[in-house]
Amino acid sequence: MQVTFNVSRSAAAGNGAAGAAVSTYEVELAEAATVLDGLLKIRDEQDGSLAFRSSCDRGLCGGCAMRINKKGRLACVLPVRSISKNNIVNVEPVRCAPVAQDVRLDMERFHWRKMKKVQPWLSPRQTPSREHLLRDEELEETRAAMRCNNCGLCDEGCTVIVVDSEFLGPAALTKGFRFASDPRDGARLQRLRQLSEPGGVWDCTHCFEANGHCPQNIAPTDRIFQMRDEAILNGIKSGITNPKVARHYDSFAKSVRQSGWLDETRLAIESEGYGNLKGLLKLLPTAIKAMKRGKAPLPYLHAKRPGAEHITRIFEKAEEK
Ligand code: SF4
Repeated sequence: MQVTFNVSRSAAAGNGAAGAAVSTYEVELAEAATVLDGLLKIRDEQDGSLAFRSSCDRGLCGGCAMRINKKGRLACVLPVRSISKNNIVNVEPVRCAPVAQDVRLDMERFHWRKMKKVQPWLSPRQTPSREHLLRDEELEETRAAMRCNNCGLCDEGCTVIVVDSEFLGPAALTKGFRFASDPRDGARLQRLRQLSEPGGVWDCTHCFEANGHCPQNIAPTDRIFQMRDEAILNGIKSGITNPKVARHYDSFAKSVRQSGWLDETRLAIESEGYGNLKGLLKLLPTAIKAMKRGKAPLPYLHAKRPGAEHITRIFEKAEEK
């Protein structure tokens, strides 16, 4: 079959005019060919300057992650036929990632610097005098995260990294989970504290895009939630320099406990902190807009829901436990 590839290029590269943003190639491929087959053929036969990463050709190494027809995917396991009826394939680098050349990313800046921050190595509880044997089920959660091939596609889908490049992102946090959940690790609490600092687990906005993007079905968003739950169970509501999260949690629980539903105005004020005048003033324009549109009730005029006492009892039961 005849396939047209439109590949995003770095400035002054490729077969287009100098500085072309896109190079177009016509390639003859077998019916079952993948996108990576096409790119390799282009590089071998038409344009040796085309830069992209690939290695295992089995969907295992994650090296060939790129945006193909507007979606983050692994090129080596993606048949051209499955994504394009008219045999047109558009290839771009992963979004929000620093590009080294064409669709080849600068992995140090995109990925590894964040990975290093989560200390991706085991800190054994003690110097083992013998092998640390575990039952299969003890490692079940950790094993799921061990399937991660560092492709970075979850970061590609992440809606926080788009606005905050310092957010660790689902890929690095999944790596953090891999070690925080390992029963042999002795630094679990330390890890949870560290991952609760700004840029860590509490900065995730639960959009669940990461789950949809992960080719290994690891569900990175769920792993982030697991670490949050684990942190709370261990009394870590937020990191040392991240007190807003703890205040947010407390305020959320207090208003639901008292009235049966969330008082959003109170939540915003209490999360910011009564003593934080500067932070409160910053909220003012948003608060006025929200009030005008009936989106935020006046603070503390928050009527109880019918049956609120049942909700309060649920809280009491949970606390008894
Ligand atoms: S969690 Fe999934 S999407 Fe994210 S880097 Fe690992 S394998 Fe790729």
